[in-house]
Amino acid sequence: MAAPKKGDLSATEKDLFQVISAGNVQEASRLLGCKDVRVNCLDEYGMTPLMHAAYKGKADMCRLLLQHGADVNCNEHEHGYTALMFAGLSGKTDITRMMLDAGAETDVVNSVGRTAAQMAAFVGQHDCVTVINNFFSRSRLEYYTKAQGLEKEPKLLPKLAGPLHKIIMTTNLSPVKIVMLVKENPLLMDVGSLEKCHKVLDLICEKCVKQQDMNEVLAVKMHYISCVLQKCCTFLREREDKLDAFVKSLLKGRDSDGFPQYQEKFIRECIRKFPYCDTTLLQQLVRSIAPVEIGNDPTALSVLTQAITGQVGFMDAEFCTACGGKRASKRCSICKMVMYCDPTCQKLHWFTHKKVCKKLQEQREKQEARSALMMDKQANEDNKPVEEATSLVQGLAIQKEEDSPSDASVVQSGPAVPDAPSVRQE
Ligand SMILES: [Zn+2]
Ligand SMILES: [Zn+2]
Repeated sequence: MAAPKKGDLSATEKDLFQVISAGNVQEASRLLGCKDVRVNCLDEYGMTPLMHAAYKGKADMCRLLLQHGADVNCNEHEHGYTALMFAGLSGKTDITRMMLDAGAETDVVNSVGRTAAQMAAFVGQHDCVTVINNFFSRSRLEYYTKAQGLEKEPKLLPKLAGPLHKIIMTTNLSPVKIVMLVKENPLLMDVGSLEKCHKVLDLICEKCVKQQDMNEVLAVKMHYISCVLQKCCTFLREREDKLDAFVKSLLKGRDSDGFPQYQEKFIRECIRKFPYCDTTLLQQLVRSIAPVEIGNDPTALSVLTQAITGQVGFMDAEFCTACGGKRASKRCSICKMVMYCDPTCQKLHWFTHKKVCKKLQEQREKQEARSALMMDKQANEDNKPVEEATSLVQGLAIQKEEDSPSDASVVQSGPAVPDAPSVRQE
């Protein structure tokens, strides 16, 4: 079939563009089955049906078009926009990810020299920027599983590509989580394999810095993961109890307040060791972290996470105290002050949490007693006879309407999260 020409559309193809705008997936599916419909046909501006669907933010439509063989890297648009750029502009992270999974090139530039990530940033779609910058395709990693040039053997054993790719794609940068991912795969629990992995990450890091469109985010991420893997090697080599000892060091809280000092210092050191000192991102990280006293906010992990994934202080997501996982829903049943993903994370953390749990419990109880007292006081004043102080009661009545009844019930019934099973006897 000849390559489609701009604006050279059959009547059915014109219908297809309309159906896409309307978002009628069923009808689009029927039209794509017609003989005179080419999935990569071009409208007068050189836009494909996939570009339209991506720009309109219609995920189901994008999926359908990709299933029908839409070319994610078609580059006939009059200003050089790709489907990935349109996805980024739409602000839809699921569509952006879909384009990347379908093999969208991230370093293509449009007619004004901007990449998809830069376009998305330009219009303030930072979630899409994060998705694009954090994406590293399996095929880019697989390059290292083939011997290049004069090499006798590849830098990475093919069987390691899968487990390493999983680690690269993590958005939870807690070192505990990364060690958990290493431990999850027996292939990685070996010094030789881990050394190969960290060397490949260092190479990718270098490439990210030196390539024309420098990706500092990915470079820092690769370097950081490489540091964690190197530390895993050190522990695997020296300690009998292997990686568990590393995890314990990372979680161990200091005596005064339970703050995981070693973890903080470790992450700071990883950042300091980033070999490309003059990159903007590194300088930004150092500026944010250096003035903070160890134990205060923000932690190095939160600064790093924000820089790499763009996630800022989630109000709606609780983080696991052990592995840093989002949306942790289990609370320590004693102090009710720390959250975990599951009993496994809680158990992992108990050896150090048990030293502060009681103190936290007392703190919470004192706080609750104090607020209960305030409630009582307010309730008493509300019940005073009207003639005693009309104006005061009026004032309180307004206040009461605003905040007290619902607040009181929240405090009394406690958080609506299931208690974690107690792990007091470890
Ligand atoms: Zn966890
Ligand atoms: Zn506790």
